Amino acid sequence: MDTVWILGDQLRRDLGALRGRHPGEVRVLVVESTAKFASKRWHRQRAHFVLASMRRFVLELRAEGFEVDLRVAPTLATGLAEHRAEFSPTQVVAMSPMSFSGRQMLERHEVIVLPNDQFICTAEEFAGWASGRRSMRMEDFYRWQRTRTGVLMVEGEPEGGRWNFDDQNREPPPSDGRSWPEALREPLDAIDARVMLDVERRCPSAFGDAPDGTWATTRAGALARLQQFVEEVLPLFGPHEDAMLRNEWKLAHSALSPYLNIGLLHPREVIDAAIDAYRASRVPIASAEGFIRQVIGWREYVWGLHWMWMPQYRTSNALDAQLALPPAFLGGPTELSCVAHAVAGIEQRGWVHHIERLMVLGNLALTAGVRPDAMVEWMWASFVDGAEWVMLPNVLGMALYADGGRMATKPYASGGAYINRMSDHCGDCRFDPKKRTGTDACPFTTLYWDFLARNEDALRGNNRMGNQLGSMRKLKDLDAVRERAVEIRDRLARGTL
Ligand SMILES: Cc1cc2nc3c(=O)[nH]c(=O)nc-3n(C[C@H](O)[C@H](O)[C@H](O)COP(=O)(O)OP(=O)(O)OC[C@H]3O[C@@H](n4cnc5c(N)ncnc54)[C@H](O)[C@@H]3O)c2cc1C
Repeated sequence: MDTVWILGDQLRRDLGALRGRHPGEVRVLVVESTAKFASKRWHRQRAHFVLASMRRFVLELRAEGFEVDLRVAPTLATGLAEHRAEFSPTQVVAMSPMSFSGRQMLERHEVIVLPNDQFICTAEEFAGWASGRRSMRMEDFYRWQRTRTGVLMVEGEPEGGRWNFDDQNREPPPSDGRSWPEALREPLDAIDARVMLDVERRCPSAFGDAPDGTWATTRAGALARLQQFVEEVLPLFGPHEDAMLRNEWKLAHSALSPYLNIGLLHPREVIDAAIDAYRASRVPIASAEGFIRQVIGWREYVWGLHWMWMPQYRTSNALDAQLALPPAFLGGPTELSCVAHAVAGIEQRGWVHHIERLMVLGNLALTAGVRPDAMVEWMWASFVDGAEWVMLPNVLGMALYADGGRMATKPYASGGAYINRMSDHCGDCRFDPKKRTGTDACPFTTLYWDFLARNEDALRGNNRMGNQLGSMRKLKDLDAVRERAVEIRDRLARGTL
């Protein structure tokens, strides 16, 4: 009998090697690798999310009648070897893994690899789109995706007469004191309790709060969150996507990335739900389009770039950033209100939204010059939705400009003024976002100018940076700013900022 090997981020009955297979035809293998759990300082909720989702998926397959060999082994490869020794399968078949090293491992162990259909655009189709292009802008890819899939298209034209309503999505936080829909939460059960015992044993360095039911670990739970998002949150999606509020962790973000990333949801069903809501006039075009752009645009673009540029991409460090990971990111004390809030959010639920990742944590790491590999490692282990394929382009390319501009056309560097405009963090922070020198100057503001000065040579050839570099050169107090920046970077690295 053939064995179908299901990896921990492929938890979907109707995809890959399980598609069209029935109980009795194949045996299923699922391996829990203890090395994987011990390999990083994982967030508890992240480790729990993956392990509990795997175990519940196995229960669902068994309930359907499949024979499942759920095996705890030191590594995936030893689990496979033990399975082969016990069952002598005619062949082992798997869907192509989401990770580069996973793909190599399967090839080394003579597993039959089927195409990965967890995305709408395969890595091969993406490479075809990219081939021969001088520039690979996300917007061009997104329009190509819309055209070829017919998503939000009418007779070859974009629905609503525009491709993109992004210009409506940059509003600061609403000042009307509105409340946002509550996140769903499920009670934990005996499976969760058992998983948590195993997490504590297998991940000795695990950190963060224990799970509280915020993250669903079944397809039914993921579908409930999709439904709630479309009905209650999607109509609000868009205008305040870049806003950050102390008392609201999700705003109108979907928080669906964890489910998409391990197979509990498929991007097609997620966008179909958004399109249906738009067609039924429950959601405005700007919200539907903005959300769909994230899913079939950004997400699939990042997936395609990752496969095109690996494995060299992993070691990118174009700006030669060498600062160690700030202890503040690991929960150490910090007086920076926005950073403390983002890190507390990670501790509480292993998730903060895009702008906190990009414009607070990423921006600080970029302007201070934190080592890209340290940021990747930390974020990968800290987020419930973390995975190498999504982490590398987002952290190295988008947040840190470590790929020298292959992905982002310019560095996402900004001073404290941006954070002040888009959040309610600066009001009670001891630093002043308008100041760039002095002990109460906002470190984001000081580091922003210093970043431009420090990397002037590397950025000079980028014509989108002309205005920023020009403003930096005109600063009369640049020497004092740079002196203060040395102190800030030192204190950041020592954990005393
Ligand atoms: C420094 C940094 C680290 C990140 N790390 C991760 C990560 O570990 N895992 C992860 O899935 N995303 C990551 N992202 C991308 C993005 O921030 C998250 O996908 C998003 O915040 C998830 O929240 P959401 O589901 O509410 O997204 P929404 O705003 O509701 O967007 C809908 C969906 O679009 C997809 N999406 C949107 N933007 C991106 C993007 N840039 N890359 C990939 N998918 C995208 C996600 O699947 C998301 O669920 C990172 C971004 C940055 C800048």
